[in-house]
Amino acid sequence: MFVEVAFPISSYTQFTYRIPKKFIDQIHVGIRVKAPLGKRLVTGIVVAKSAESDYSGKHKNIKELIDLQPVMDNKLWKLVQWMSSYYFTPVGQVVKTVLPAKLSTKYTPPTTGLVVYKSFGDNYEQLQKRAPIQAKVLQFLSVQERAIPIAALKHMVSSPNAVCKTLFDKGLVDLDEVTNLPDVTGFTFSKIHKEIAFTNEQKLVLGELSKKLNSRKFSPTLLHGVTGSGKTEIYIEIVRQALEMNKSAILLLPEISLTPQIAGRFRSVFGDQVALWHSRLSHAARAWTWKQICAGQFNVTIGARSAVFAPLKNLGVIIIDEEQEYSFKQESPAPRYHAREVALMRGKLNDAVVIMSSATPSLESYYNHVKEKYSYLRLNKRYGGAPYPQVQIVDMIKEQEETGKFQQVISSKLQKIMESKFAKGEQVMLLQNRRGFAPILRCGDCGHVETCVQCKIALTYHSHERLLKCHFCGYETSNIPIACHKCTSINLKLLGVGTQKVEDVIREQYPGIKIARIDFDTARNIPALTRILEKFAAGEIHVLIGTQMIAKGLDFDNVTLVGIVNGDTGLFLPDFRSGEKVFQLIYQAAGRSGRRKPGEVIIQTYNPDNPVLIHAARLDQKTYYNIALSERQELNYPPFSWLIRLEIEGTKKELVTTHADKIRKKLSPSPKGIDILGPAKCYRERLRGKYRMHIMIKSNKTHDTNGEKLHSFLQDCLAVGLLNRLPSSVKILIDVNPVSVL
Ligand SMILES: [Zn+2]
Ligand SMILES: [Zn+2]
Repeated sequence: MFVEVAFPISSYTQFTYRIPKKFIDQIHVGIRVKAPLGKRLVTGIVVAKSAESDYSGKHKNIKELIDLQPVMDNKLWKLVQWMSSYYFTPVGQVVKTVLPAKLSTKYTPPTTGLVVYKSFGDNYEQLQKRAPIQAKVLQFLSVQERAIPIAALKHMVSSPNAVCKTLFDKGLVDLDEVTNLPDVTGFTFSKIHKEIAFTNEQKLVLGELSKKLNSRKFSPTLLHGVTGSGKTEIYIEIVRQALEMNKSAILLLPEISLTPQIAGRFRSVFGDQVALWHSRLSHAARAWTWKQICAGQFNVTIGARSAVFAPLKNLGVIIIDEEQEYSFKQESPAPRYHAREVALMRGKLNDAVVIMSSATPSLESYYNHVKEKYSYLRLNKRYGGAPYPQVQIVDMIKEQEETGKFQQVISSKLQKIMESKFAKGEQVMLLQNRRGFAPILRCGDCGHVETCVQCKIALTYHSHERLLKCHFCGYETSNIPIACHKCTSINLKLLGVGTQKVEDVIREQYPGIKIARIDFDTARNIPALTRILEKFAAGEIHVLIGTQMIAKGLDFDNVTLVGIVNGDTGLFLPDFRSGEKVFQLIYQAAGRSGRRKPGEVIIQTYNPDNPVLIHAARLDQKTYYNIALSERQELNYPPFSWLIRLEIEGTKKELVTTHADKIRKKLSPSPKGIDILGPAKCYRERLRGKYRMHIMIKSNKTHDTNGEKLHSFLQDCLAVGLLNRLPSSVKILIDVNPVSVL
């Protein structure tokens, strides 16, 4: 007998091995094995088993079995195979993404060794003479009330384990072990209880969802609910119904750390049935959680994008909250998958309901609803009948002319309204989607901009840490130039506004007001974030300043003003999605205002005529989406076409250019309906020390309804050696349905 084994390497080849007799009955598709690959013994996964092999050379043997049972069931395995072909990624590499890194079915949670005193024995005096250290330990243990961790003896002896073992062999102590279950409750937020009384609108939506759930058929649904319309209550109810049918559920959240409120609500309703799954769990915790899910200990998994792989059996519903979020896309390494796409395929394989939920759906999902590919449910009313906030645009150029003050961070209008809120004891949120103090350090004489040594990107000045930081590669330096590196002028200027600058300005202007800031620098981890949010909820903070981290999912009764400090941030990036992103961010942020009391929103901008801002200010999604869709159609971009982006990168600029050209040549001639753009330099031409170029391949949906044409075109090109003879210093990344083309 032979098996095909896929390894987590960047080769599409699978390798054939002979199964030694002793393993024949134990080897199945889906179990992991160790087999020789070159000179090493490498873990791979069995993808096929057969009686014969086409390979004429000498077969090597499988050396070891890692699992006794397949680590994924048939349906999950099918999903892996689909991902492999859809995202052009070797099966072994997909498996590496799907399974927790240190998963082994033989895994046991770590233990702590304990020791407890038994007796002094017959001859303690002699022990004192011959082995004074052992005697000392025994003496210490004899006065302890209960067993203590062996490691706690470290302060007395250098090798407590060995000493305790010797004492045990002499019959003077007993040893024991306790199991430390990995902490899956790393979330310290409190359980949130709320009485739920559904509105008529919610009841209608729930009725439809129940029908879908009961039909036990794949059913992709867009749940389009305005901010504050009570979507979380709907999630809870539909998951409750799924559990009643003995089905399981997955809830995907964009960044779980940013939505402790939703996770808290779920814990309070479903208790220990809920597993939390996110990138900050340790390897051990992930492995343990995976196994517990396999064993049916958890029926609900809540997590960030990789929770879409949770090995739940009998999956009934997958909910994707804020489905338009880009964090659902894995950028690196391959497979560059989108959790929404994977959820849809998983739903199909499991006959499950897939709910894509958002206040601001992605244009793709919106278009799929228009084309009736998804069913559509709408929540129009804010919960409790709260009115929409009043939104005003402040023209910052006019503001400059009127006040004579340049580079104002907070306009006089925003100041005035803020002060009125302070007077009433209401709270304010200020969104500035840039962290740090100032995003640019520029020479006033020659215009030279201080950039990262690795990336061709301006360094951001962080005043609180006194550092220049690169927000892409993490490079930072405390060596802040006092003279221009190019012309030695000392006329250096900090330009632009980051969250730290907003904080400083407010602090200076309103000394008595309590301020907190949420961005990647202040809220790196869940406890830090939770602390700030809890203080804000308790009213101990008056103004909350933050990046997009504060724009979504948060619900505070007393917030009646949201200020968008610079509505133009990101608006002019050369990406066909930049307008959509800015619209969604502003729309979402606006939704934080006035959830219980009448609220206001101020958008400051230097481009008051920009349609993105105008429609965001009117909270008019439909008009904006229609404008955006017609733009996309004109340019043949998604959702009107399928798009695959090939990124060619390497440390040597010339090699990257030559090979980008070579790859482009091998892509022609392309079939009708498939357009190829490039190669062109990426907008972020140099990142992390690498030069980057890309080629875009677009396939219009009128010729290629489900994208198969584009896939088979690229597949064929790969098969005839599209990527052959690439030097090892040049890498090519294949990004299917990219969310960013920068
Ligand atoms: Zn200069
Ligand atoms: Zn950098």
